[in-house]
Amino acid sequence: MRRDGFREECGVFAIYGHPEAANLTYLGLYALQHRGQESAGIASSDGREIHCFKAMGHVAEVITPQVLAGLPGQAAIGHTRYSTAGDTALHNAQPFSVACNKGRIAVAHNGNITNAMELRRELERDGSIFQASSDTEVILHLVARSRERTLAAALREALLQLEGAFSLVFLAQDCVIVARDPHGFRPLAMGQMELSGGGKCYVFASETCAFDLIGAVYLNDVEPGEMVIVSPAGLRRERYAPAAAPSYCVFEHVYFSRPDSVVFGRSVEESREMLGRLLAREHPAVADVVVPVPDSGVAAAIGYAAESGIPFRHGLIRNHYVGRTFIEPSQAIRDFGVKLKLNPVRHLLEGKSVVLVDDSIVRGTTSRKIVRMVRSAGAREVHLRISCPPTISPCYYGVDTPTKAELIAANSTVEEIRRFVEADTLGYLSLSALRQAVGDERLEYCYACYTGDYPTDIVSVEDLMAAKPRR
Ligand code: AMP
Repeated sequence: MRRDGFREECGVFAIYGHPEAANLTYLGLYALQHRGQESAGIASSDGREIHCFKAMGHVAEVITPQVLAGLPGQAAIGHTRYSTAGDTALHNAQPFSVACNKGRIAVAHNGNITNAMELRRELERDGSIFQASSDTEVILHLVARSRERTLAAALREALLQLEGAFSLVFLAQDCVIVARDPHGFRPLAMGQMELSGGGKCYVFASETCAFDLIGAVYLNDVEPGEMVIVSPAGLRRERYAPAAAPSYCVFEHVYFSRPDSVVFGRSVEESREMLGRLLAREHPAVADVVVPVPDSGVAAAIGYAAESGIPFRHGLIRNHYVGRTFIEPSQAIRDFGVKLKLNPVRHLLEGKSVVLVDDSIVRGTTSRKIVRMVRSAGAREVHLRISCPPTISPCYYGVDTPTKAELIAANSTVEEIRRFVEADTLGYLSLSALRQAVGDERLEYCYACYTGDYPTDIVSVEDLMAAKPRR
C-alpha cells in the first residue's frame, strides 16, 4: 500500500455525560498541548445541535471563555494538531463537523490513514466533495455513504476500510464513539470521573496526563480493533475488527508522550529512565557531568546519571515561553532558532567533560547546534548519547519524520554522524535495550523508524520513485 495523506501529530480527547463537557475538554487539550501546537478545536453536543470551534494556535490562546460559552452540552470532543507537510491551513484543523443522513457528527483523529488517498479518489469518482486535504475527512464520507442505518454500524463499516494508524473520537447528537485501529499504533486511554451531583462519566484521551488535570481516573486502554460507544444506554465496548498483531508506537515512550503519562499501560517516565540506564551501560563515558537536552532528554539523562554515578546538572536551560510568532533580527544571528529555545549555563559547563543526553537525532542539524552551544560555553569534551537507535526510516503512522533522504542515520554511519554533529563521541541505544526499557517482552511495539520493517504493507512514495525506470 502506498503512503498517502500527510504526517500529523495530534492529541484527542472526548467526554460524555458531564454538564461541563466543553470546559473539561479544554483542560484535557491543555494537558495534551505537547502533541500538537498548530491548531486546536472542540465540538460539543447539546443533544440536538453540534457546536464546533477550531482555530490556528495554542489551546489557551484560541479557546477563550467566550468560545467555551458557545459550546454547550454534556458531550464533547477535542483535538490539538501539528502537521508539517506544508498544508497548515485552518480548513485542516479538527474536529470536522458535518450534517449527513446519519445526523450531525463530528470527528477528531490522531494517526495517519495510509490508504486515505485511494479511498478519497474512489469517493471523488463517486461524487463526494472534499473541503480539506487531511485524511480524516475521508472517514466522514465513508460513514455518510454507508447503507447501514445506525451511526455505530456505519462507523464499523467505515473503519474496516481504513488502513494505518487511527485513534478516533466521534461525537453525535446523543453519543460519543471512540475507536482504535487494529494494530493500536497510537494510544487511546479510557477514564472515569465522579460527577459532583453523584454518578460517574466517561472520558477518553491520547494520554493519561489529561485525566490527571481534570481529576479523572485511568481505567484502561481502548483496545486495538475496539470501538467504545457511550450513550444514554450506558457504555458498550465491542470489537469491530479481528485482532491484528499489536504495533504500539515505541516513539511515544522515547519522545512523544509526557513522562507523567501512562501510555500503552506503562509509565513513560519509567521507560525513559530505563532508556538512560541502559544507555549508560552500553555507552559509558568518562565525564564530569550528565546534561540533558531539555525537555526531551531529561528523564533519560537522570537514568544515565543514576547508572553511571556521574552528577546530573541542568547545563542547558530552556525558555518555555517561546511563542509561535517572534521577530527575527534583520541582521543574521547564527543558530538563532536554537538560541531562542536553549541557553547554556557556562558556570556548569566550563572546562568540563560533558555527557549530553537527547532522545533522538533526526536530521542532525539541531543536535549539531546544541553540541556547538555546549562547547562554546566552555565544555572540554562533549559525549553525545541518544536514548534510542538510529532513526533510519520515516514513520507512516502519525509521527512527523522527514523523508529517508533527510534522515541523517539513513544515509550515514554512526562515525559520520558523530563528525557531522561535532561530538567527541556518539552512542546510540541498541534496539534490544530499547525493547527492554519499554518492557516489550511480547513484541507488541512498532520499531519501524529504527528497522525499516513496517507492520503493515507500505510502499513509500520514495520507493515508488526509486522504482521508476530512468530515461
Ligand atoms: P536534529 O538534530 O535536527 O535531528 O533534531 C533533533 C531534535 O529533534 C531532538 O532534540 C529531538 O528531541 C527532536 N525531535 C525528534 N523527533 C521529533 C519530532 N517528531 N517532532 C519534533 N521534534 C522531534
